[in-house]
Amino acid sequence: MNHLYGRAFVDGAIRDDILIRFEEGVLVDVDQTLRVPADAERIGGLLVPGFIDVHVHGGDGADFMDAHDDATARILAFHARHGTTALAATTLSASRGDLQNAVESIARMPASPDGAEIVAIHLEGPYISGDRAGAQDQHSIRPADIHELAALIAEAPRMRWIATVAPEVEGVRALIDHFRERVLFAIGHTNADHALAAAALEWGASHFTHLYNAMTGLHHRDPGVVGAALTSVHATAELIADGVHVHPAALRVAVTAMPHRIALVTDAMRACGLSEGTYKLYDYEVTVADGTARLSDGTLAGSVLTTGDAVKNMVELAGLPIETVIPLATEVPARIAAVSDRKGKIEMRYDADLVQLTERFEVERVWVRGTPLQA
Ligand SMILES: [Zn+2]
Repeated sequence: MNHLYGRAFVDGAIRDDILIRFEEGVLVDVDQTLRVPADAERIGGLLVPGFIDVHVHGGDGADFMDAHDDATARILAFHARHGTTALAATTLSASRGDLQNAVESIARMPASPDGAEIVAIHLEGPYISGDRAGAQDQHSIRPADIHELAALIAEAPRMRWIATVAPEVEGVRALIDHFRERVLFAIGHTNADHALAAAALEWGASHFTHLYNAMTGLHHRDPGVVGAALTSVHATAELIADGVHVHPAALRVAVTAMPHRIALVTDAMRACGLSEGTYKLYDYEVTVADGTARLSDGTLAGSVLTTGDAVKNMVELAGLPIETVIPLATEVPARIAAVSDRKGKIEMRYDADLVQLTERFEVERVWVRGTPLQA
């Protein structure tokens, strides 16, 4: 069935009586009408654009760092079933060889009909602060290296590239200067103060990696990296809305201060979708219990969140209207991943990436470029 009829989030609002038709993975008709063709399927709940996650490491037992096609396919299929129809494959701080292998593997991955589309590669490290490493491998953190980044980009020259860097790390300013037209630089895993974070925006950084986490916080006399993000004019920022990484009130603060510039991310790791237990995160062991993933010292190590759950949490925990929340999982990340001309909206000529949400904002069905999946 490529003819759907029901409530949908179209043109920034929830509208009834929307008829959606798609052909060969593309939306060819989006209309508000009372004339329902006989072959249209009536959809309950709410149809929204497919979710886009610009920061995700893995799921269903696999990690992009595994550098293996089967692992990558598992991640893409798993997150698609939970509503994420496009994502930025995200790497961790790792040795030169491991990072190169991971990027090669992501770059050669063919598009799969029932998996999320890889629309960007997000390098989270290795040019970050050892003081704010979180669960990143301390031994792999190093000064910025223009030649290394150039070699990585050469593996996927047409891909959107995002790089999380700490402005205080040696060579990062020169790196941003060199690649600012080619790479979206994100400030994260950083001990920078407010002035340095604001300076990094001047150098050309324009995104903040998991706002609040692994960065200096906002104190009223020392506003930190968080203060630089909240007072920025054009920058975007990620939020991990699992209810643990960030307090619901702080989620609201970010969305209020940065309207249309917050992207919900999962930062999901290997154990996402699996049962509680102990898992590997590059060189570390991570224990998953009570909906969190932590190192043995208690440090949060990514999440076991899906984007669908993040959307639900933004409504039910943070108390934001669903109309405000949907763009944070669709339009904003589409802009960050540079695919806003074909993803992130239910609109003519856009990809037929759709999610059907229940009345309780749970993911019920998913279409990836027109192919229906079982949630
Ligand atoms: Zn991460």
